[in-house]
Amino acid sequence: MIPFVDLRGQYAGIRDEITAATAGVLESGQFVLGDEVAAFEEEFAAYCGVPFGVAVNSGTSALHLALLAAGVGPGDEVITVPFTFAATVAAIGYAGARAVLVDVDPVTLTIDPEAAARVVTPRTKAIIAVHIYGQPADMDPLRALCERHGLTLIEDAAQAHGAERGGRRVGGLGHLACFSFYPSKNLGAYGEGGFVATADPGLAEAVRALRDWGMDAARSHRRRGFNYRMDGLQGAILRVKLRHLEGWTEARRARAAEYDTLLAGAAARPVGASADARHVYHLYAVLSDDRDALRAALAAEGVQTGVHYPCPVHLEPAYADLGYREGDFPVSESASRRTLSLPMYPEIAPADVARVAELVGAHAEVAF
Ligand SMILES: *Cc1c(COP(=O)(O)O)cnc(C)c1O
Repeated sequence: MIPFVDLRGQYAGIRDEITAATAGVLESGQFVLGDEVAAFEEEFAAYCGVPFGVAVNSGTSALHLALLAAGVGPGDEVITVPFTFAATVAAIGYAGARAVLVDVDPVTLTIDPEAAARVVTPRTKAIIAVHIYGQPADMDPLRALCERHGLTLIEDAAQAHGAERGGRRVGGLGHLACFSFYPSKNLGAYGEGGFVATADPGLAEAVRALRDWGMDAARSHRRRGFNYRMDGLQGAILRVKLRHLEGWTEARRARAAEYDTLLAGAAARPVGASADARHVYHLYAVLSDDRDALRAALAAEGVQTGVHYPCPVHLEPAYADLGYREGDFPVSESASRRTLSLPMYPEIAPADVARVAELVGAHAEVAF
């Protein structure tokens, strides 16, 4: 049996470090925020190559506060994609704004910058670029577009810790970057967690205040905020895991390169990677015209897979009020029907990668 992810194998390798770190928090009594969270904020911001970072309690909270810090509110429009996890679109609604969706590039499945340029209106306030599967979106044209119209560029980097594009690291490719530390993400907490990275001290201060009831340094409630604080245990655990992240990322990239080689010529083809990207393979996805049958064939051989995501957000019932219909975003809709995520985690054995690739390659596709 080959699992889709295996969090227990990774824990076994760092058990002693985790035990020491969590014991330290329990002894200190700093259960919410505190020294470990503050130290993690500095270390993860430095890892992203930006001066400021604010730890929060989920990636969704990070997106919500990034939008509020950018001044997004009722009557505003925020551009993003339907080919993402629903949280990206939900956060725009939390801020009171309207999500304006555009399709993704057919090769990389990240936002199409030209499509984004076509939907900018006087009400547009921000763009959220999603680094789906761990590959950074095409940020240069988006940065130019945002500069031209005075928009805030936000990265949804929930799947892309340590990814790079053109030699520049995710976290510093826009005005604000939002990370998730959900346990299965590339840097995963042992519970919930999230992060906002930024090079802008004003935006950092706004997010810092909003995550803790809108209080300033004098504990005056300047604006209405939230309880979006990170807990102390997660800060200590994430500090331990951050020390291993580069090694884990290189292992993911090595296994992905093996999949690429072994799947050359297979009917199911890997989602395209751009040449100037350091893809960190949160997910290793292939596109198959016969996805559900391929998935069933793999399951019959004991290989677990995932589908990210089976329905683009604009066709989910909960987002019907955005006013989109089937056919509005053909690339996203086709990708949702065809995408299949193969087993991928740093500890997966090369022999398991070879076995999965062999099964995928042997599957004769029946086009629908
Ligand atoms: C995981 C994820 C989120 C949400 O993060 P949570 O920590 O689960 O709130 C947002 N966007 C994308 C693309 C994600 O993968």
